[in-house]
Amino acid sequence: MKPWSATILTLYPEMFPGPLGVSLAGEALRRGEWQLEARNIREHGIGRHRAVDDTPAGGGPGMVLRADVVAAAIDVASPPGDPRPRLLLSPRGRPLTQARVRELAAGPGLVALCGRFEGVDERVIAGRELEEVSVGDYVLSGGEIAAMIVLDAVVRLLPGVMGKQGSGIEESFEGGLLEYPHYTRPRDWEGRPIPPILTSGNHAAIATWRDAEARKVTADRRPDLAALHNEKS
Ligand code: SAH
Repeated sequence: MKPWSATILTLYPEMFPGPLGVSLAGEALRRGEWQLEARNIREHGIGRHRAVDDTPAGGGPGMVLRADVVAAAIDVASPPGDPRPRLLLSPRGRPLTQARVRELAAGPGLVALCGRFEGVDERVIAGRELEEVSVGDYVLSGGEIAAMIVLDAVVRLLPGVMGKQGSGIEESFEGGLLEYPHYTRPRDWEGRPIPPILTSGNHAAIATWRDAEARKVTADRRPDLAALHNEKS
């Protein structure tokens, strides 16, 4: 089977693999368990200066990535028949969720366009059916770090990437709740003991305690998630 494969379209391909080149993701990349290709949009730039952007129609500050340049980059990186979804990292996109991450991990890979400056000409988003994805309600200076966030979240779910099998399942969001708190040695630290139940050896009681803690922390910090979870169950 072909490994899960990502193609990133960016003005700064030298940013990749960056942090994805170390630790579990990096080791899996070197083992060939996933593939990463970063392609420079500027290869499709216009004229001697390989221009990729221009001033916004209607005026205003900044520059906008040209539809024709971006489309040419997409068409080479992701020709018709490429089954991979095409993402545009954008603060106007649908917020990334663990559910979408799981879907992406189950698929063949992804193509991701990283915006810069004021963003991308709206017409290429429609014309190339780009799925706009946001990594949060704040504005980054470019889509590259956002693309790395998507990749990091996906790659850790690929088979063979994370050492411990169970480690990917029992986690924040996977059950619709935030995770219960963790503790390790020393048993007593600065007058704060580990909750005694965790050292009781009673696994049923531990599971019940963890479930209750997960509900408590979710209700407290993320009432939106808690409400969703209660609706479902
Ligand atoms: N003028 C735009 C912001 C452009 S920021 C606006 O107000 O919506 C430049 C680029 O950074 C964007 O094109 C996008 O690719 C990336 N970016 C910025 N914030 C992001 C976020 N929260 N999620 C995903 N990508 C983001």
